[in-house]
Amino acid sequence: NLNHWRPSEWHRSYPIAQGNRQSPIDIVSARAVYDPNLKPLIISYESCTSLNISNNGHSVMVEFEDTDDKTAISGGPFENPFRLKQFHFHWGTKHSQGSEHTIDGKSFPCELHLVHWNARKYATFGEAAAAPDGLAVVGVFLEVRITKIAKFKYHFFSQGTKAQFRSFNPKCLLPLSLDYWTYLGSLTTPPLNESVTWIVLKEPIRISEKQMEKFRMLLFTSEEDQRIQMVNNFRPPQPLKGRVVRASFKA
Ligand SMILES: [Zn+2]
Repeated sequence: NLNHWRPSEWHRSYPIAQGNRQSPIDIVSARAVYDPNLKPLIISYESCTSLNISNNGHSVMVEFEDTDDKTAISGGPFENPFRLKQFHFHWGTKHSQGSEHTIDGKSFPCELHLVHWNARKYATFGEAAAAPDGLAVVGVFLEVRITKIAKFKYHFFSQGTKAQFRSFNPKCLLPLSLDYWTYLGSLTTPPLNESVTWIVLKEPIRISEKQMEKFRMLLFTSEEDQRIQMVNNFRPPQPLKGRVVRASFKA
């Protein structure tokens, strides 16, 4: 039960929490290695079909139809296309915290995770989520500024709430530049599987103060329970343990 968000306790039930490739991490930009062999990231979301939006108790999530490779990312460090499965967000109570990854020790108020899986190699999302090269997650930082991103409709949601959410294209949640850092890591919520190739985009997108407030109004609890605001649903940076972060761009 994640109603009480205590990442420091997760290792009791999930020993992998102290493993060798856990996420998120602090990206020290000066220590990232520019890799000229990294290809540009190709994000093909043109024909995506969103299915529903839900409060799964630890985030707000939008799920997609993933029966073919039409909605996928490729290029970058990947040999195969990875299919979009869902996206969700992490955020804080105030602007100074909320993102999971940090850049040179700096947090952003919110971080979007677009979760993809390797359907060329694995039969199901579950199978991919248990394999070291099964998932690719694109992380996008959100900055609070007086400007608009897509009209992303979300309500005062309680845990377990699910609604139809059709024809939403997450393309509008991407920045102009697709420069990225990449490293091998894990899911940032239990079961914390070490199955993720992370792509963290350098350029943040902007969200208005009003939109950020809406995130903070989401609830961790179900309707019957006492109401707990869903905020600070982020895991702090984990030890790098010798991993190298590669950059697709020159600093
Ligand atoms: Zn996430």
